[in-house]
Amino acid sequence: MKQLLTKKPLELVMGDVPQPALQSPGDVLVKIKAAGICGSDVHIYHGTSPVATYPRVMGHEVVGVVAETGPGVNRVKTGDHVIIDQVISCGHCYPCSIGRPNVCCHLNVRGVHVDGGYREYMVADQAALHLLPPELPFADAIMIEPLSIAFQAKARAQITAQDTVLVLGAGALGKSLIKAIQLTGSTVIVADIVEERLNEALRLGAHHAVNASQQDMIAAVRKLTGGYGPTVSIDGAGVADSLAQLAEVTCNAGRVITMAFLDQPSPVAQLKITAKELDIRGSRLQCHKFAEVIAAYRNKQLDLSGLVSHIIPFADAQKAFDMIDAKDPAIQKIVLVFD
Ligand SMILES: [Zn+2]
Ligand SMILES: [Zn+2]
Repeated sequence: MKQLLTKKPLELVMGDVPQPALQSPGDVLVKIKAAGICGSDVHIYHGTSPVATYPRVMGHEVVGVVAETGPGVNRVKTGDHVIIDQVISCGHCYPCSIGRPNVCCHLNVRGVHVDGGYREYMVADQAALHLLPPELPFADAIMIEPLSIAFQAKARAQITAQDTVLVLGAGALGKSLIKAIQLTGSTVIVADIVEERLNEALRLGAHHAVNASQQDMIAAVRKLTGGYGPTVSIDGAGVADSLAQLAEVTCNAGRVITMAFLDQPSPVAQLKITAKELDIRGSRLQCHKFAEVIAAYRNKQLDLSGLVSHIIPFADAQKAFDMIDAKDPAIQKIVLVFD
């Protein structure tokens, strides 16, 4: 089978390797049909991921068809359409013991710490597979993964209809956040520096847009919230000063959610956190959110179409990464598709 190996940063090698074999009774062989390219894959490709190891087969947004099942498999059958959960946890550590395997002390993430889905076949334990509605196109089904990341942030922020939520950044992550948060009935404010992104965010359900290149973001958001600030703010931008800005703008007793893997320090005055009793919470990957996203799709609350901008054959994966490096503004989401 063909696999795309990132031998080291900036070196992709398309090669022929043996198809993986089932190892345990609960294992499932999945024929990959589509794999998304995410911002974190681009970081791994560039060598700027603080967590990835090399050589690595990237790809954590992965859907396919069940090709073979081990003797102990009872959750899926040959021919089922599935999405593969990227989180592999130990099941024994403190986070695992309290139901938070996405931050397992011995966490492995497919496509980051172990090989992912930029290959024609993959083996995974049946527990990692979630059934897809068969009518859902594979390229659209990819979006379940980024939406699960947004659902995790929504859960970490404990958003209710009472909340006013500031989403900082209206890029790919920001758009997924808006889609997830608008299901809560809360008021959504989005801030970005690109007008087209803000217009798209409004189209997706945000109530207010703030162009931070034209006005003072903090002052504008305060004005929209009666001077109090949002009750929840989520950093979907992940730039150096975003945490400090969100700590500044968020209402007393509010929640600030971080999502970036930024390893440079962000200066935040402790006074802001203490005096306002802010909860600053990280949100990483997702915990049991695939099922929630798929249920929201099935209930017609969540539209998965129209988010993928480019569909490219897996054989042309290098071209896809070159397009991303060329920073074509038309690129929203690239999905690699397999025969
Ligand atoms: Zn991702
Ligand atoms: Zn664990």
